Amino acid sequence: AALPPASQPNGSSVAAVKELTNRSGDGRLQIVNETQEFTTELSSYLGKWGMLDKGFAYDVVSVFGSQSTGKSTLLNRLFGTSFDVMDETKRQQTTKGIWMCPSAYSSTLVMDVEGTDGRERGEDQDFERKSALFSLASTEVLIVNLWEHQIGLYQGANMGLLKTVFEVNLGLFGGGADNTKPKPQEKTLILFVIRDHVGATPMQNLTGTLTQDMEKIWASLSKPPHLADATLSSYFDLSFAALPHKILMPEKFEAEVLELRKRFTDRSRADYVFQPGYHKRIPADGVGFYMEGIWQQVLTNKDLDLPTQQELLAQFRCDEIAAGVIEAFLVSAKVVRRPVEAGSVVEGLGSLMQDWISTALGKFDRDASRYHSGVYQRKRADLVTALHVSLSPMFLGQLKNLHKSISGDFAKELQAGLKEPGYDFAAVVKNATDKARNKFLSGAKEIQVGGTDWDYETELALLDEGLRQIADKCRADETKKMVNAIERTVKRQLLEPVEIALSKPTPGMWDTVLSTYAKVSSHGEESYLAKAKSYNCTPEENEVALGALRARTWLALRRKLAEQTSDATVLATLRDTFEERFRYDETGVPRVWKPEDDLESAFKKAKEETLALLPLFATISPSEDSLLPDLPSPEPSFDTDADPTSFDPSTAFTLLPATKLLQLETRFKREADAAYVEAKRSMVSSVAQ
Ligand code: GDP
Ligand code: MG
Repeated sequence: AALPPASQPNGSSVAAVKELTNRSGDGRLQIVNETQEFTTELSSYLGKWGMLDKGFAYDVVSVFGSQSTGKSTLLNRLFGTSFDVMDETKRQQTTKGIWMCPSAYSSTLVMDVEGTDGRERGEDQDFERKSALFSLASTEVLIVNLWEHQIGLYQGANMGLLKTVFEVNLGLFGGGADNTKPKPQEKTLILFVIRDHVGATPMQNLTGTLTQDMEKIWASLSKPPHLADATLSSYFDLSFAALPHKILMPEKFEAEVLELRKRFTDRSRADYVFQPGYHKRIPADGVGFYMEGIWQQVLTNKDLDLPTQQELLAQFRCDEIAAGVIEAFLVSAKVVRRPVEAGSVVEGLGSLMQDWISTALGKFDRDASRYHSGVYQRKRADLVTALHVSLSPMFLGQLKNLHKSISGDFAKELQAGLKEPGYDFAAVVKNATDKARNKFLSGAKEIQVGGTDWDYETELALLDEGLRQIADKCRADETKKMVNAIERTVKRQLLEPVEIALSKPTPGMWDTVLSTYAKVSSHGEESYLAKAKSYNCTPEENEVALGALRARTWLALRRKLAEQTSDATVLATLRDTFEERFRYDETGVPRVWKPEDDLESAFKKAKEETLALLPLFATISPSEDSLLPDLPSPEPSFDTDADPTSFDPSTAFTLLPATKLLQLETRFKREADAAYVEAKRSMVSSVAQ
């Protein structure tokens, strides 16, 4: 903005003019214009002025007073600002509105109100009232500027103006009916600056008069019932300063201005104006939003209840700060989110998440804790919830990935354990399970985040179930192997005695066969049960395994018997038996038939005794039926169509049908007859010799 033309007729203060000319184009901002619109640029100007990160370490001062009492001139002198000053030579009006400019000497925002001489003309008190409301909502120090000769004139414009200020202030800070005591930050300092102070009347008298006037105005206010007893001093502190005539005593004027400036800049002074109690506690980064909100309320004539305004401000700013924090938070989380989604277990994910959370909350606390504490606490809780919600998929993903990788390790661990010599299956499973669970639990605890209700119990239950299934599958495989091994032993123990028994058929051979079968079967079962104990097999599983073992033992016996009752084997056995009786004597010496021997009877005896044995092969027929074993059930995989006889009680014990017996008998007789003929021949030939 262009500087106001030098309006100091005698150019008395070169230094002050320099201060003005040095200000940049960003020096001031019209925050409310002639048509009462609020600027859109306040926040960006606050940024340019370096105010945004000041927190509470900034101050606000504004000025009130009749038109053309040198307010803008005063502000420019005091703060090095560049507000428009009326050009005396042209009597040109300055631009109406509310202006803001930062002080050149401290972190202070200075507001200048440009009205018209409306009050004198009985108009435009509307803007005056609005700007008073607006200023008081954020100002710590309100400079009331007046000519010395105005003091004591109640009817003067100043009095009406101050009445407006007081009324407006009651509306702003009067509080509810239950809250009549103003809060500390609801107090404002009114600094009267008496201009063109001639010095004829002592200062003490002037301030006394002003104070009395204030009290009178205060008393004359129509206060709401609940504030009837409220005193002026509970809302305002009064302070005074006087300046000499600027035109008549320019040097003195400038010197006094410099002195007055100290009260705005020197904290060590007792009369330093910006006492903490006056600060309206609007964090600097919220000033833009707050002032705009206040102005909108003022414009629409809504109740300007400042505590509510501050809550609205706090909500807006806390939301804004939280949004910024979440954005940064998501950026950090993104790097780790990918591998988790891709199935990796991310080492130290828990401490990473904690870091992100504490960084986010740290930022939030730094910027948001200055705002209305109830709102801040609530928004902080919302933020924490939002952060937790956004991390929760990562927590669940990591649990899933842990589950998966631990299940894989568990299966390997089992396999390795089962390779150890003399392993105990139950112990191997227990060790591997403990290891897997501990690993899961430590992983799951690492990613627990305080204040969440995240739980890993569900995933742990799934893991337990998964481990159990893997162990069960492994146990089933091991059991199968065990049954196979026992089956091999059983066969070894069973087949040879059976073969021996059937190759020397006797009526007692079935008792031998069946008792061997019974003994070997029960040995097999015992050795299965002994080993199965360490596998923690369920009774059902044992039943299945034992059933398989029984069925296979029975089938092994049946197959051996079938082999031993094949045509060739039966015939060979009969032949051996017959020859043993016919060609050897009782002492086992080969017979040499002599003519006197009764070949006929011997042959007949041998043949009949041998044939009597043939029916032994027809069925499994022990000496007592009770010796017959209970038939096992076939294994589920057994193809009963291929061999319908083995497990059917009506056929399971039958080895040779009657027709087969007849055939075998015929074939045997033929062979026996041939042996007889041969013996006869050998006898004849021995006689012939
Ligand atoms: P505002 O309307 O209150 O902001 O007043 P301005 O600062 O624009 O000044 C109005 C006129 O008063 C200008 O012509 C100034 O030169 C003049 N002026 C400024 N300060 C003083 C002062 O201390 N005494 C006198 N008599 N005139 C002053
Ligand atoms: Mg002015």
